[in-house]
Amino acid sequence: MPHRWSDSEAKGKDEMGLLVYQSRLVGADTSLVVWGGGNTSIKTTKKDFRGREVDAMTVKGSGSDLKTIEPKHFPSLDLEDVLVLFDRDAMSDDEMVAYLAQCMIDPKSPRPSIETLLHAFLPFHSVVHSHADAIVALTNTRNSDELLHEVYGDRAAIVEYLRPGFALSKLVGQRVRENPDVDGVILVNHGLFTWGDTAKEAYLKHLNLVDTAAEYAEEKAKGRTIFSVREGGLLPENERRRLAAGLAPVIRGLVSRSQSMLLRYDDSPDVMEFVNSAEGAALSQVGPATPDHTLQTKIKPLWVESGEFPNLEYLSGHMPRAIDRYVSYYQGWYQANTDGQHPMLDPHPRVILVKGVGMWSTGKDAKAALIAGDIYHHTISVIKSAQAVGHYASLSDKDAYDVEYWPMELYKLTLAASGGELASQVALVTGAAHGIGKAIAERLAAEGAHVVVTDIDVEGAEAVAQGIIGSQGAGRAMAVNMDVTNPEQVADAFGRLRLAYGGLDVLVSNAGIAPVGAIHELSLEDWQHAMDINSTGHFLVAREAVSLMRQQGMGGSLVFVGTKNVPSPGKDFGAYSASKAAEVQMARVLAIENGEYGIRVNVVNPDAVFQGSNLWTAEVKEMRARAHGISIDGLEEFYRKRNLLKRSVTAEDVAEAVLFLAGPRASKTTGAMLPVDAGLKDAFPR
Ligand code: ZN
Repeated sequence: MPHRWSDSEAKGKDEMGLLVYQSRLVGADTSLVVWGGGNTSIKTTKKDFRGREVDAMTVKGSGSDLKTIEPKHFPSLDLEDVLVLFDRDAMSDDEMVAYLAQCMIDPKSPRPSIETLLHAFLPFHSVVHSHADAIVALTNTRNSDELLHEVYGDRAAIVEYLRPGFALSKLVGQRVRENPDVDGVILVNHGLFTWGDTAKEAYLKHLNLVDTAAEYAEEKAKGRTIFSVREGGLLPENERRRLAAGLAPVIRGLVSRSQSMLLRYDDSPDVMEFVNSAEGAALSQVGPATPDHTLQTKIKPLWVESGEFPNLEYLSGHMPRAIDRYVSYYQGWYQANTDGQHPMLDPHPRVILVKGVGMWSTGKDAKAALIAGDIYHHTISVIKSAQAVGHYASLSDKDAYDVEYWPMELYKLTLAASGGELASQVALVTGAAHGIGKAIAERLAAEGAHVVVTDIDVEGAEAVAQGIIGSQGAGRAMAVNMDVTNPEQVADAFGRLRLAYGGLDVLVSNAGIAPVGAIHELSLEDWQHAMDINSTGHFLVAREAVSLMRQQGMGGSLVFVGTKNVPSPGKDFGAYSASKAAEVQMARVLAIENGEYGIRVNVVNPDAVFQGSNLWTAEVKEMRARAHGISIDGLEEFYRKRNLLKRSVTAEDVAEAVLFLAGPRASKTTGAMLPVDAGLKDAFPR
C-alpha cells in the first residue's frame, strides 16, 4: 500500500497540524478506513478554562470522517481525569459517555470517539486506529489465532473480539503494558492500533503491519482461483444495465415499505466477480467484515439467485418473495437477540446482490446508499483475502446485534439525518437549466429531494446540478441532456435515473416554448414545433414517469407547468395556448387514470415570469407588446398592473406552488390547477 507521508509536506506543522495531516493520510486510503471509520489521537498539553496547563488528549470526535477532518473535529480531554478510570473494574457505556463529557477541555466541542478510552490507555504520544482490510482479512478467519501468530510473531499483541467500550479499552491497555515492545495491537474482527512518539512513527508502523498482512495474503493467493467465476450465461454490459434499470424501481418499492429509500446500482468488476461466483451465495451470508459496518449494511446482504439467464420477468416476479424472506430472517434475528430495550430498526436489506446482475445498496439519501455500497466493496475484498489464507468467518449473531443496536453507534446516525418535506425522494425537472425550471429544481432540492436536472442546454443543467451539490451535498443532483421531443433521449434519461437513484417520486414537466403570431399567419412548422414541445414533450416524459411509478408502487406526484393562457387565451398566441391546453387536458386524464395507484397529477398556471426565462425571447416580447398595444419596455409593468394584487410573479413564486403540489402537504389534491398569476379574474380555474 502507498506510504503517503511526506516530510516536506509535514514540515513546519505544529502538533495539531501533524495530527490532522496524519489523520487525512489514513483517511485517504479506503483500504484502511471507509466513511467515518477509524480514529486518531495525540497526547499533549492544553490550557484549561482557568489558563492552567494540563495534560490532555486530543482525539477524533464521533461522526467525523478522517479523510476530510479538520482541527475543530477533535475534542480535547483532561488526561488526568480520564486516566484514573484505568483502575476501575467496569463501567457502562452511559457512565463512560457521561464521565468523558465532564473531562472535556472545551465543553462545546464534539462528542469524543467511542474508542476514546482505548486511545487514552495506550501510553504513547500518537495513536492510530484503522479497520484495515488486510488485517481484518486475517482476523476474520476460522483459524485466526494461529494465523496471526504465524504472520506477526512478537510484533503485535492480539486481543480477542469485544465490543468497543470500557472493557475492551482496559484489556488492550493491560495487554500493551504486559508486552511493551510490540508495534501494535490487532483486535480480532475489528482492526489495528499502532502508536509512536511522533505522528509519523505511528503512521508508518501502522502501514508496515498492514503491508505484512497484505503480502502474506497475496502470497497465499498466488496462482489460485479464489472466486470461481462461471463461464457463459453472462449478460453483456448493456443488457445487464437495461435489466438493472428495469428492475430497480421494483426493488425500491419493496425496500421502501417502512421508509422511503434511495438505491444505487453497482456493477464494477469486483462486484460482478463476486455475484457471478459459485461461492458468493454462501460467503455473502457469513457476516460483516468489521462491527461498525453493520450500521450501514446490516449483518448480511440479501442474495438473490436469478436462474441461468437473468431476465426482468423472472426477477420482478421473484423479488417480492426474496425481500420478504430477508425481512422475516431479520425479524427472527432481532427477536432472538433483543433484550427489549431498542425497537426493531427497518428490517429491509441495505445491500442486495443479484446473481448475474450486480449490487444495489440502499440508504435514506444518495450518500447513505453510496456509503453502504462502498463498505460492501471492502467486504468483498476482505472475504476474498480471508478465503486465500483460510475460511472467512465473522461476528456471532449476538455480537452483530450488540453492534447494530448499540446506542453509541445509533448516535452517529442521528448526526447524519437529513430532513425536509421531500427527504429521501427523487424528482426530475424538465427545462431546468434556466428560469422557472431552475428555481423549481433548487427549491425541491432545498427540501431534501434528489433532483435530476434535465434540459437541452446540458451545460446550463450541469451548472444548476453543481449548484445543488454545492449547497446540499454529493449525490443530491445530476444533470442529464434531454430533448423532451426525442423519445430515445427521454427513455435514456429515465434509464440513467433508474440506475442512479432507483426510481422517481416527483416529475415536474416544465420545458416549453412560446411561439407567437396570429393563427392565419402561422407556418405549419411553427404550429408543429409548439405541439412537439408543449404537448408531445409532456406526453413522452409523463409516459415514462407513470410507467416507472406504477412499477415502483410508491405512488408519486406529477406537476405540470401550464400557463394562464390555458383558462384565458390571448390573441397572437394561438400555437402556445392550444399546445399548452393539450398539455393540461392530458394532465387531467393522467389524474383520472392514476389515482388508484396513489399518483397525483396537478398543474400550476403561472403568468408572465420574466426573470431568467428562455420563454420570453426578444421576439416574444416584441409580439406580446404589439398584441397589447404597448412598448416592450412597458411589458413587465403592464403584466404587473393587470393583476389583482399588482405584483410581479417570480420564478420562486412558481417553485413554491410546485413544491406544495409535489409534496405531502397536497396529499389529498389531484387533478387541480393552481394559478400563480397574482390574480387574474379571467384565468380563475372553473
Ligand atoms: Zn474501530
